[in-house]
Amino acid sequence: MQRSISSLETEKFDILIIGGGITGACLAWDAINRGLTVALIDKTDFGAETSSASSKLLHGGIRYLQQGKFGKVRESALERVYYQKLAPHLTRYIPFVVPAYQSLLKSKWMLYAGMFVYQLICLGQNAHLKDKAKQVPGWKVLNKAQVAEYVPDIELQGVTGGVVFFESHMQSSERMTLAFISSAAKKGAVVANYVSADSFIRKGNRVCGVNARDIVTGKQFTISAACVVNAAGPWIPLLNDVLAKDKLVTAFSKGAHIVTEKITENAAIALTTKKQNTAIINRGGRHVFIIPWRNHSLIGTTYDAYADDLNDVQATEDDINELMSDINSALGQKILNRDKVKYSYAGIYPLIDNEINTRVYQGTGEYQIIDHEEKEHIEGLVTVFGAKYTTARLLAEKAINRLALKFRKKLTSCQTRNTPLPCGDISDIVEYRKMKQSQYKDVLSKETIEHLVTHYGTEIDKILSYVRQNSSWSRCLSDDFPDIEAQVIYAAEQEMICHLDDFIFRRTGIGTLGYPGDELVTRCNRILSEYFSWDEQRQLLEVERVKKYYQYH
Ligand SMILES: Cc1cc2nc3c(=O)[nH]c(=O)nc-3n(C[C@H](O)[C@H](O)[C@H](O)COP(=O)(O)OP(=O)(O)OC[C@H]3O[C@@H](n4cnc5c(N)ncnc54)[C@H](O)[C@@H]3O)c2cc1C
Repeated sequence: MQRSISSLETEKFDILIIGGGITGACLAWDAINRGLTVALIDKTDFGAETSSASSKLLHGGIRYLQQGKFGKVRESALERVYYQKLAPHLTRYIPFVVPAYQSLLKSKWMLYAGMFVYQLICLGQNAHLKDKAKQVPGWKVLNKAQVAEYVPDIELQGVTGGVVFFESHMQSSERMTLAFISSAAKKGAVVANYVSADSFIRKGNRVCGVNARDIVTGKQFTISAACVVNAAGPWIPLLNDVLAKDKLVTAFSKGAHIVTEKITENAAIALTTKKQNTAIINRGGRHVFIIPWRNHSLIGTTYDAYADDLNDVQATEDDINELMSDINSALGQKILNRDKVKYSYAGIYPLIDNEINTRVYQGTGEYQIIDHEEKEHIEGLVTVFGAKYTTARLLAEKAINRLALKFRKKLTSCQTRNTPLPCGDISDIVEYRKMKQSQYKDVLSKETIEHLVTHYGTEIDKILSYVRQNSSWSRCLSDDFPDIEAQVIYAAEQEMICHLDDFIFRRTGIGTLGYPGDELVTRCNRILSEYFSWDEQRQLLEVERVKKYYQYH
């Protein structure tokens, strides 16, 4: 995947996608598979904003059950299944334990009834998956002792039993987004990170491209396209408000997560807080999750009104304290203190209308495709937003179906439900892992091979081709991480990194468990500096960029 500003500048595209989060990524992959010519730009790194700030769940929609939105439940459950086909290496199932208590609404009978209905709605989902290891495991009733077996390190008070169901979780949502974008690029899409769309180019009532800026060099240029798709997430209004009469996004809420020392080993747990939610059938307050992730625990989320700078969304000390206190009070004991919090992050929910309460989590999962030609007679502009990470593929399918009518080309039908991304073209993930362990056992440790398959899928072979070129690149970047030097070279050459933090946070997850230490950061910086010929001043700036992520740690 090469960053070609000159291609962006000189070619005329069928569609130009603004935004390389999961929505833009799925749009690019869908459009290129239909036979359209595609460009995609992002003003930061791919997947660096909301799409990296989620709970990383590809969830089966169980939360919509409480809201009585059965169609949404099924939609989400099916989309979760399609992700297993597209990128089986990047997803895994985690048991989610929901404890039951004495009160009627939190009783095991309510839980069983809910799970039974959920099972009915999801009927047939596994028929879409040939690989048995990727099929969604069934839910189970738990007695009190079994609840304790799933989460032995947590002492739960007043629990009468519970249920366990399975959710799909991503080790790296950043690499998932990248996988869609790089797959689109392999098929001919012209993609570039650190390119901002500053304004629309208009001819009368038609939008025919954007005035763009290369953030790396400062160069200003134009990109021409028959149709511009605004998939800029929370930033959509910054571009659209110049044109649109009706405001689309009227408010924002912020959601924060913390990454802590490991609290549970293999299972996630849903705990009830005292915060309000919008459920019709309410088990108490909003849930907070403790999810096992990268040998740590991922805890989220908060939900608060947000009116500050969209380009500097941080989990603050207040957010961190709120999450610690949610967990400690839900468990009735102080299992979390500040020392156990290693990292934190936050993202933004764009909200659709003024009626929405920015302090009460809605989680409705509603998405929108706005054709501005129909809405306000502006041709050549479509805005796409509001999908969850889980439903972004479906939103892209619907958006491109709609767009396809505008082109005089004969386009193929949507391929993205069943066509694996090239890095995920693995028919049996268990066998594949075994095969790679045996193929590379003389070169790399078991842990590194497992890690590379999980994060890169079939591209593990490309990383190993770098190791064949230079055997010293098989060295681990530090004793604390399975990542190796070849990944740095691979990222620089094939994965369009422009900065050190692109590598530390998004091509790998090294930075997401707390500051990885000067030695590792300097080592990666040195390798990249040799590759990109960065001078001393640039190297210092790159380290500063990395350290900015830890201003609250
Ligand atoms: C706290 C939280 C937890 C969540 N948890 C989950 C979950 O567990 N599961 C789930 O399914 N969903 C979850 N979601 C929802 C999900 O994360 C988002 O719906 C999804 O990531 C939105 O993706 P996007 O591509 O639309 O937006 P973004 O990821 O924000 O992408 C928009 C991109 O546009 C770029 N951009 C903006 N302006 C410009 C411009 N002018 N020029 C060029 N590029 C531009 C930005 O840099 C950005 O990368 C969660 C959301 C939050 C906030």
